[in-house]
Amino acid sequence: MEDLNQLKAAVRGKRIHLFGPPGCGKGNRSKDLQALGLVHVASGGALRAKVRDDPDSELSKTAQEIMKRGELVPDEIVVPVVMEHLNKPECKENGFILDGFPRTKAQADLLFSQVDLDLVLLLDVPRSFLIFGVVGANRRACVSCASGYSDFDPPKVEGVCDRCGGTIVQRADDTAETISKRLDGYDAETRAFLPDLEARGIVEVLPITVADDDDVGESRLKTLLGEVYRVDIGDGGTARMLNLDGMRERLYGFLAKKFM
Ligand code: ADP
Ligand code: ZN
Repeated sequence: MEDLNQLKAAVRGKRIHLFGPPGCGKGNRSKDLQALGLVHVASGGALRAKVRDDPDSELSKTAQEIMKRGELVPDEIVVPVVMEHLNKPECKENGFILDGFPRTKAQADLLFSQVDLDLVLLLDVPRSFLIFGVVGANRRACVSCASGYSDFDPPKVEGVCDRCGGTIVQRADDTAETISKRLDGYDAETRAFLPDLEARGIVEVLPITVADDDDVGESRLKTLLGEVYRVDIGDGGTARMLNLDGMRERLYGFLAKKFM
């Protein structure tokens, strides 16, 4: 645990943005970073909380409709919600993980006019996995602590969160149709401003696949119905993928190299 404490000290105060398409594991990586003491600021979660807390306001009704369709909520709504979180003293002291924001160039420009980031981590997941991982594998999450599950990473008891005992549900907007719309939106609006971030020299890539000559134990690999899962990576090729434990190790190893 000495190592983990050293890592916590090294990442304290860092401002990290998780970049990647819907279904790439931003939520789970956020959990891993939260465990190091960083504050999780998720635009989608913050919007859903706003709607839950005040369901009858015009703002909530508008946001809920748009989210259900898988479209982007207007900046007038999402920007204040996110900035309110980022400006909290706990974010300044501990550092934060920004998840789901910025999603457009306008949001990115606005963010950088107010805040600097230390790292943009690009979560690299094969395209063919994105829809399958969410819809085919029944992505679901805990309503209390937002821990993510799927048929690849099922909870020990179905419907009950391993971490906090909360109820696990599927998101209303996790349908094949909405996911593909959200992916199109990612390509058109979000991926489009990645070069701006690269120009700042803060982007690093964290892949989820494992090279065939890499000697990784099965306890760190995604399995489905007891078999090691191989994802299609195009041109007829396939690759193994890390599971939750495997990705946590890869992420912590990466951060140790970068910040320690
Ligand atoms: P995902 O990344 O899987 O689409 P999120 O939880 O990040 O899920 O977002 C859910 C929904 O919330 C989005 O489809 C969108 O409607 C809205 N949303 C979240 N973040 C933003 C943002 N930065 N700008 C506009 N809308 C957003
Ligand atoms: Zn939970």
